[in-house]
Amino acid sequence: MMKSIRGYEGEVRICASCGQPSYLGPTECGSLWQHFSEQWDGVYCPRFPLAGQTFAIDWDATSWSDVRRMYPDTH
Ligand SMILES: [Zn+2]
Repeated sequence: MMKSIRGYEGEVRICASCGQPSYLGPTECGSLWQHFSEQWDGVYCPRFPLAGQTFAIDWDATSWSDVRRMYPDTH
């Protein structure tokens, strides 16, 4: 059920527990902020696969593509 960070076009927020991006997606407990599928190997988050508290940031196109490049295509 986890989404790929590649091509994701919804709102992305930063997880305050680990500093990594997260998205709002469905879970068994309703919609919760959670991490992307590429982050299985790359992040240590105490709440993984969910995110902790999140905060919104004003992405610009450059910073967002830089962030995406940090997560290699694992498929
Ligand atoms: Zn996190």
